[in-house]
Amino acid sequence: MLIEIATLFPEMCEAVLSASIIGRARAKGAITVRCHQIRDYTLDKHNRVDDSPFGGGMGMVMQAQPVYDCWKAVREQSELPMHTIYLSPKGKTLTQQRVRELAQMPRLFLLCGHYEGIDQRVLDRITDEEISVGDYVVTGGELPALILTDAVARMCPDVLPAPDAYEEESHFNGLLEYPQYTRPETWEGESVPPVLLSGHHKNIAAWRAEQSEAITRERRPDLWEKWIKLK
Ligand code: SAM
Repeated sequence: MLIEIATLFPEMCEAVLSASIIGRARAKGAITVRCHQIRDYTLDKHNRVDDSPFGGGMGMVMQAQPVYDCWKAVREQSELPMHTIYLSPKGKTLTQQRVRELAQMPRLFLLCGHYEGIDQRVLDRITDEEISVGDYVVTGGELPALILTDAVARMCPDVLPAPDAYEEESHFNGLLEYPQYTRPETWEGESVPPVLLSGHHKNIAAWRAEQSEAITRERRPDLWEKWIKLK
């Protein structure tokens, strides 16, 4: 899996993507992530990448030219087909199902907007889809791109120790995960559920399934409705 991130703040993405599980996965070559500075592609002599919006209004809009030239240059750097995603609050909300599908693709290009967003003409030209990380607005596409990269990367082979590491987690099969406990057995007078100490794998699995269903029913009736229809 090759993930290309186009941004005005590559150092922000690099800092996050060099740490922890994703950092180790990159170091051993399980995934490749490259961050590209959109500003490097501007033809403006003052290095500008934005201008005020036609029609008036607050803020600045990222110009089409540097974004388009960045996208074209990155596309030429590999023969792998590239699926282009613009991170945007106007996009479809990201789900685990979509993450799973994206993890099957050979190469993603993640475009991060800033300010008021990006000139619509270049978006119409290059994007395959727009993805949102939720119904709220953040200042730039970097954090959403990092969320997407992390979620996709952990489903790629050799990033996590084994597929069970994500297959039993919330959202993989449509349910939320059961509660987790670790040592000590008793903390501040609270003991862990005795079944987890029983060593009886079948009973533990049954307890976890029951908890998972109960939590989903209580916290996310929307997911629960979908799950019982599929069951
Ligand atoms: N003016 C835009 C609007 O109202 O739809 C919001 C622009 S936002 C301040 C700047 C950039 O942050 C966007 O171009 C986008 O790349 C990113 N962004 C903000 N919220 C996002 C979200 N919920 N999901 C994905 N990207 C988001």
